[in-house]
Amino acid sequence: MDAMKLVVVGAAGRMGRALIKTVTETYGAVVSDAIEHPGSPVIGVDAGVLAGIGELGVPVTDDPLTAFAAADGVLDFTTPAATIVFAEYAAQARIVHVIGTTGCSPEDEAAIDAAARHAVVVKSGNMSLGVNLLAGLARQAAAALDIDFDIEILEMHHRHKVDAPSGTALLLGEAVAEGRGVGLAQSSVRVRDGHTGPRQPGSIGFATLRGGSVVGEHSVILAGEGERIELTHRAENRDIFARGGVKAALWARGKKPGRYTMADVLGLND
Ligand code: NAP
Repeated sequence: MDAMKLVVVGAAGRMGRALIKTVTETYGAVVSDAIEHPGSPVIGVDAGVLAGIGELGVPVTDDPLTAFAAADGVLDFTTPAATIVFAEYAAQARIVHVIGTTGCSPEDEAAIDAAARHAVVVKSGNMSLGVNLLAGLARQAAAALDIDFDIEILEMHHRHKVDAPSGTALLLGEAVAEGRGVGLAQSSVRVRDGHTGPRQPGSIGFATLRGGSVVGEHSVILAGEGERIELTHRAENRDIFARGGVKAALWARGKKPGRYTMADVLGLND
């Protein structure tokens, strides 16, 4: 089979640059195009130069439609507003759309669902193997321990992150809620401030820290009377997300249109 032709959108972003480098290092995948929004100062700059790996002969453009028509898949770690537009274009081109973008609203999710009727969509709030394994362990722990164990999800990210709680914290929240057989929306406490009263039994709490250059740290804490379990993942660099994203694209090639998760890619749902 020919190498999978992948378009990196948001090419100048932190993840975009990591994706360009990872695709180039991956056997069986090539960067066919790199996209930024119109007016971006990097339009015309070579994607490889942008990613610090030397010339690739792929200048950054602002024309996703032409790029998608010639590609097998799209790697998209951008913003919700950009992602829903790319989802529509990927559906028109009937190609793979790997979405790492976080902070999508229920309306954005509905638009992605609609696009997944024609595109092969893999979307995950965290593309790393370790975090997806952590979600599996957290689900198991929440199912095994009753509501005498209070569950709190703690996360820390760099100072530039604009959404909270992180997509990964929400992914872990979904996992523990599933383990407990409850809905996350009904059980979660996303913010605490002032006189909150005592903790609601069975609630799933979130706490957010922001600062410095932290790539991403997540802990699921199960706190009982006299004992506490802490399951933690620490991301040391962005390459783990990029590697997961490229792995997801290669896995999705030739699959039926629909929505898939990293758990599907890793076979954790088999
Ligand atoms: P970032 O550095 O701000 O990168 C986003 C890039 O997308 C920017 O270069 C931005 O350009 C560009 N962009 C925005 N709108 C666009 C459009 N319409 N067309 C083309 N490009 C557009 O952010 P990041 O740290 O790379 O993170 C990006 C997203 O991935 C966030 O939602 C983050 O939470 C998520 N993320 C997910 C995972 C995961 O494993 N799922 C891991 C890490 C990050 P401008 O800056 O010029 O607007």
